[in-house]
Amino acid sequence: MWTYHPDLLAIPVPRYTSFPTAAEFGESVGATDLDAALARHEGEVSLYVHIPFCEKICWYCGCNTSVANRSDRVASYLDALHREIVLVAERLPRDARVSRIAFGGGSPNGISPIDFVRLVDALTVHFDIARPVVSIELDPRTLGPEWAAVLGTVGIERASLGVQTFAPVLQRAIGRVQPARMIENATAMLRGAGVRSLNFDLMYGLPGQTMADLEDSLDQTVALGADRIALFGYAHVPHLVARQRRIDAGALPDAATRFAMAAFGHAVLLAAGYVAVGFDHFARPGDALAQATLTGQLRRNFQGFTDDQAPVLLGFGASAISAFPELLAQNEKNTGRYRMMLSQDRLTATRGIVRSAEDRRRGAVIGALLCQGRARVEPDLRRDAWPVLAPYFDAGLCEADGEDLVILPGGLPYARSIAARFDPYRKDSLRRFSSAV
Ligand code: SF4
Repeated sequence: MWTYHPDLLAIPVPRYTSFPTAAEFGESVGATDLDAALARHEGEVSLYVHIPFCEKICWYCGCNTSVANRSDRVASYLDALHREIVLVAERLPRDARVSRIAFGGGSPNGISPIDFVRLVDALTVHFDIARPVVSIELDPRTLGPEWAAVLGTVGIERASLGVQTFAPVLQRAIGRVQPARMIENATAMLRGAGVRSLNFDLMYGLPGQTMADLEDSLDQTVALGADRIALFGYAHVPHLVARQRRIDAGALPDAATRFAMAAFGHAVLLAAGYVAVGFDHFARPGDALAQATLTGQLRRNFQGFTDDQAPVLLGFGASAISAFPELLAQNEKNTGRYRMMLSQDRLTATRGIVRSAEDRRRGAVIGALLCQGRARVEPDLRRDAWPVLAPYFDAGLCEADGEDLVILPGGLPYARSIAARFDPYRKDSLRRFSSAV
């Protein structure tokens, strides 16, 4: 069982879906850098397509999204997305092969099924794609039979449902009302459409949430047969996400309760037969994510933990990030400016960072700690990190094993805090992050 050490979780830390994190992005990186990185790349790539629209906006959500209530705005965004697909494909060398496509948002099912099919067609026409793994994030509130049929036709085998909680009172407290029957129907439709790997996003640390609420949501998720579960702690940062001001901060569980909820969720899901994937994901043993964990192939990217091994991820859409070994480049966040730039046939990267050799060395340590729970640490990094890690060693949360740093089973909830000791950028920007648990 995990032991709570509040002092070792006191400093907010990034989620490290990239290193350096987006907090380090600057405006010195732009379309020219992206253009050059595209032209240089050869081999395998993965694609991420960002759809920044939702039928309804949830109060807790920190995503770059808006209500899909104006068909002209959605249509002009999709025009821009199609233009971006052409521009990027033109710049990529011919031997670049696409192995994966992920649709995220927002809610990809915030657009019409026919628009979605057109996007898939455009990707297929302009890129060298052969039997890719295609995944999609879905909002159960807007998932009807028409959408399920399209997913089956396209051949999508991986989907993720935004569930968060089954408790009606909590759903009202976070502005996301979706009765259990709706989630059951969505699950049945997706299974019928051929989805073999189905993820449920769940949250703990919600306003007014009790341990019994969490247990019930976990039980219902397991009973519905989710292949993967992402169990996130709700991060209340209204100074960064204005829509969270509607959430009653006075009803939020305290830090000790949040820790107990994370520990409880972990224990319940392991007892139900799931494999722990990184620090907040779980997967059934036969699922590709569990297999990646068990074989040491787990990786981290902007979508969280993944079995994707491609060295390059190309992001399409407003705010999407492209990741190359030597560069991170983020598209213009504002959808109006994004559309305007593409109407002028310009790539829209406006921020990012060039990854130095030192960034890559430290990023490898951080990634290995979070994904494999163990990292080879070179002598100069050990010299700096070991003294600041002393409280974690003393508490039995990690240990040195020769040249390796190993996170022990009780250290899992502290993994991000331990990894952050190798991040030289974390000095004065702590307000931008949430607690590790
Ligand atoms: S459906 Fe998803 S992306 Fe859209 S507002 Fe809700 S949480 Fe955010």
